[in-house]
Amino acid sequence: MKINKDKCVGCANCVPVCSVGAIFIDDDGLAEINRENCVECHNCHRSLSPEHLPPGPTRLIRKILKSVSLRFQPDPDVCPTDAFIPEDLEWPRIVRRAFSDPMVTHESTGVHGRGTEEVKTNDVSGRIKHGEVGVVVEFGRPGIGTYFRDVETVTTALAKEKITFEAGNPVTQLMTDIATGHIRKDLLDEKVLSCIVEVTVKLEDTASTLAALKEICTTAKTVISIGASTVCAEDGSDPLKDILRAEGFAIGWAKVNLGLGRVSNRSAAAAEA
Ligand code: SF4
Ligand code: SF4
Repeated sequence: MKINKDKCVGCANCVPVCSVGAIFIDDDGLAEINRENCVECHNCHRSLSPEHLPPGPTRLIRKILKSVSLRFQPDPDVCPTDAFIPEDLEWPRIVRRAFSDPMVTHESTGVHGRGTEEVKTNDVSGRIKHGEVGVVVEFGRPGIGTYFRDVETVTTALAKEKITFEAGNPVTQLMTDIATGHIRKDLLDEKVLSCIVEVTVKLEDTASTLAALKEICTTAKTVISIGASTVCAEDGSDPLKDILRAEGFAIGWAKVNLGLGRVSNRSAAAAEA
């Protein structure tokens, strides 16, 4: 994302809407984007309606009013001079947008946002079977962002455990080697708003995997959230609870997706038939 300095009048409406605090007012009193921090989420461009005030006269009016301790401030939800310039991004920077702009669909998975439906839709996707646990590691939320080099620190540590990286996950698809968890070198310095790593682990290996995750997360340079899901036993009991408690994780329920009206768990449907 860029800002057209010839158009910007320095109203600062855009500063608070940036997802990662990458927009600031420079020494000339105009908005500027810290390109290194910008994750190309397009939130600034999407959330401020473009108005088409003439930049020169608008600047002059603001300057005159300021000289008598008054000010002309446009409505807070507009960019008064339509100063944002969305860029045609090239590889590898385009990956920032793929992971950060919720309106963009991941080409690798066909899913918007972070590009995965996660285990919370397991009742329809059937990714996790009885005796297995789906572990999700979420990076960068809220409003911090993450570099892939920090994600790789975790994926390489996870790869040493008895886990399987989820194939239908966009971070897995950026790995050069799923046996070691290494991510493409040309992406390591790219920053995204958030991403999710997903692995499947057997119930009996869950405790050691979570312990390893906890250890590596203490050195992380971003916010990391960990989630774990499993399939209830036939009697409705939850075999994961005691493992999580023993490892010191708080247990809570966030989302339950019943998948009503959509049968995409073909293996389960076939078995039932
Ligand atoms: S909202 Fe538009 S005019 Fe105002 S500071 Fe930001 S880019 Fe400049
Ligand atoms: S594209 Fe997103 S990260 Fe970049 S300046 Fe706009 S709001 Fe901030």
